[in-house]
Amino acid sequence: MVNDGFSTDFRHCPVCNTRFKGRKDKRYCSEDCRAAYNRSQRKAAEAPLNHVLSVIRKNRGILKKLWKGKATMVSRERLMALDFDPAVFSSTHVTSRRETYYFSGDYGFLPKTREKSEVALIVQRESHATGQDPWTMIN
Ligand SMILES: [Zn+2]
Repeated sequence: MVNDGFSTDFRHCPVCNTRFKGRKDKRYCSEDCRAAYNRSQRKAAEAPLNHVLSVIRKNRGILKKLWKGKATMVSRERLMALDFDPAVFSSTHVTSRRETYYFSGDYGFLPKTREKSEVALIVQRESHATGQDPWTMIN
């Protein structure tokens, strides 16, 4: 028997489970199934990043909704009731007073305590610039 790279054995396409013959290194029944497989792999690989981006988008929407055209104080409870996730943000900004603002794009908040209750000061910035270079914050 001549080994021409073709196999007479049937295989099953891992995407659609169709039985097919072809070159031994052919893994999918069709170009569509090969492309579908690659798409699903790419989607799975990007899932963690897409999740973070969706949380940042949601957080930004909440901050934008609560912001009243100037620095706006709200309770942590109010933020949390809107399903705000304070642990996810796109950048930070540390002031000379060593207060850290947490931004979701152009909207951010400063966590504070006021009379023993937790509050957030919501701010907006014109620039979408990403805060500060972390190495400048060392020391
Ligand atoms: Zn297939």
